[in-house]
Amino acid sequence: MSSGGNTTPVVLVSNRLPIGVSVDRGEVRVTMSAGGLATAVSSVHRAQRWQWLGTLGVSDHGAHDASVKEALRARGLSEIAVPPDEYADYYEGFANGVLWPLLHYFVDKVQLDSTQSWNAYRSVNDRFARAVAEAAPPASLVWVHDYQLFLVPERLRALRPDLRIGFFLHVPFPSHEVFRVLPWREELLRGVMGADLVGFHTESYGHHFAVTAAEVLGADIDHDELQWDGRSVRVGAFPISIDIERWRRGARTEQAAQRADELRASAAGRKIILGVDRLDYSKGIPRRLLAIERLLQRYPALAQEAQFVQVAVPSRENIEAYAEYRQSVDAIVGRINGTHGTPDRVPIHMLHKGLEFDELCALYAAADVMLVTPLRDGMNLVAMEYCATQRAPAGALVLSEFAGAADILSDAIRVNPYDIDEVADAIVSALTMSEAERDARMKRLVAAIEANPLDRWSGRFIDALLQHEPAATTVASAPDLATHDRIEWVLDLDGTLVSLADKPDRAIVDDELRALLRVLAATEGYRVHIVSGRPAEWLDAQLAGLDVTLYAEHGARSKARHGDAWSDHIQRDAGFKARARAIIADVAGDLESAFIEEKRWSIAWHYRRVRAEIVAERLGELRARLEQLASQDELAIIDGAKVLELRPRSVSKATTVSTISARCEGATLVVVGDDTTDESMFREAVRVAPTAVTIRVGNGRSAARFRLSDVRAVREYLRAAVVRRQGGAR
Ligand code: UDP
Repeated sequence: MSSGGNTTPVVLVSNRLPIGVSVDRGEVRVTMSAGGLATAVSSVHRAQRWQWLGTLGVSDHGAHDASVKEALRARGLSEIAVPPDEYADYYEGFANGVLWPLLHYFVDKVQLDSTQSWNAYRSVNDRFARAVAEAAPPASLVWVHDYQLFLVPERLRALRPDLRIGFFLHVPFPSHEVFRVLPWREELLRGVMGADLVGFHTESYGHHFAVTAAEVLGADIDHDELQWDGRSVRVGAFPISIDIERWRRGARTEQAAQRADELRASAAGRKIILGVDRLDYSKGIPRRLLAIERLLQRYPALAQEAQFVQVAVPSRENIEAYAEYRQSVDAIVGRINGTHGTPDRVPIHMLHKGLEFDELCALYAAADVMLVTPLRDGMNLVAMEYCATQRAPAGALVLSEFAGAADILSDAIRVNPYDIDEVADAIVSALTMSEAERDARMKRLVAAIEANPLDRWSGRFIDALLQHEPAATTVASAPDLATHDRIEWVLDLDGTLVSLADKPDRAIVDDELRALLRVLAATEGYRVHIVSGRPAEWLDAQLAGLDVTLYAEHGARSKARHGDAWSDHIQRDAGFKARARAIIADVAGDLESAFIEEKRWSIAWHYRRVRAEIVAERLGELRARLEQLASQDELAIIDGAKVLELRPRSVSKATTVSTISARCEGATLVVVGDDTTDESMFREAVRVAPTAVTIRVGNGRSAARFRLSDVRAVREYLRAAVVRRQGGAR
């Protein structure tokens, strides 16, 4: 594992510690949990001596039992104690009553009126954040797991800014159209966005998360990063795996082989078709049963030729949706067995319990067909475990396209689990497939699992977290300028002095701003430059009568004072605009919500109102084709705030700020902006005038030294600068 060389301390955080503890006649008994997360993380946890914090679920020992604490400490574990009532509201109420169904696309199963459980969820997440903040060594890595702890990253960052925080989601992340149903969507997303790295099992969950953060929080998607709140958050796919050797060995012990023979013998020549799932509505057991019923109707003889075994591990039985689900499963099994059974055998064998590892290995090994048909599943380890236990002649795997594992196990027989006929047909294919094909497919399935071994999962995640650059370096607030005699204010307009609107013509200069600019320009020692991407006519109309220097189209045209004529700083032809227009029409002409803005020296494509996922599709191609044009025609492409602009390379906001600087020796340049084009001003300003004060407005990585949160804050800052100067003059 590549992170084996990592010496930075790591703290793991999950709802449950990977063990169960009971106290029996004064003696502490510790048992390891067998769940996916516990198995996957436990091996590295032991090898690397990481700390692990979490609850013991509902445990029957006192939270202060010293011997339990000691037993945990010896294993690098610490318990976060949560009072039972609060735990029930947090875990069963919110995590599994609201988030679990929503994340698995079961919107109708989301518990209604969950205010109490939401409050408990927040409170437990707070407890976790406080406990981790206390336990984590300075500058350590913290790895937070799963949907029970969405709020921990943000809260932890507030308490301990020195930590690097990773978050991994073990379940699917749905389309933003589903996630935005949640009344608490913003707080939940802000919680996760406190992390430096957010990991998912598949690219598609990561994509959904990024689009949701863009749609709900207004984060900017920049390749595999989200820019938000002055920080960058990396999003990545890190598919989990199984300990393949353990399952392989488990199925090959003499005991398991013997047990598999017994199971085959008791099937008396019938093929064994197996399902192994927690009794959870995401696993699609009823539809799977309906597919079997459909088959039995089509081929009644199948009742004598195949034996269907469903292991249904009881789960979350205190939650109403689960109790109902169990009843519906039992009813279908009763109906099928009642109709198609005979006095000596029933087609469906149902086990309502969890099996031990040895028994499960034997059952996998004995099964001819494995049905893994969840309606949604973050990954699904059962499918991989089945493959690991197969030997020639191998069985066949039928796998839902809605399991994360489908991305890896592409040689399975793939089904849409909602399509009962398709699942029925897939079972027939599996039963009739030649031995040679089954073996060949199984070989490729096993190779796919081996290509992504379990220790690589945690290794890749920790490496990615180590590599992630700590977020923004700029400080939070802008400086006091009281000691600066002369100030040249170089101000961007849109997004800096005026809030951005869906369409540029809706963003206008209001009376408050006009009054503010008037007093700023009239203040002794101050001069004001408005450097904008807007056309000259618009600036004239909006800022008429003010004693400020205007720079239109990023400085392509300027006007020193009211009443002057505009000077042009570009001499060339503008034929590139027609060529760019044709490219935009070709790539994105069908997008009604986007539009083209043409100015004297530039052409811009505005996509603020286009949905983030559609932009993600088109922007790459558009940029590539415009870049080609740009390189032939001495043009620059500017990635603005939801706008892509093309204009001559010779003049930019950077050249404009250096012209301003050259004309005002001895004064302090204060440059304020919010956009990519302003970033070039910040860099150039500091290059030509090292004392320049550069201020970024809002989110995103920035070269600026200071930051103000939004337009309102900029206006307050300018107002304070006027008041202070007037106060000083009196
Ligand atoms: N499992 C088990 N005993 C059983 C049935 C399942 O120990 O009787 C284990 C199985 O080996 C697998 C895990 O439970 O590792 C289920 O993980 P999966 O990702 O398939 O689904 P989840 O239950 O996490 O949704």
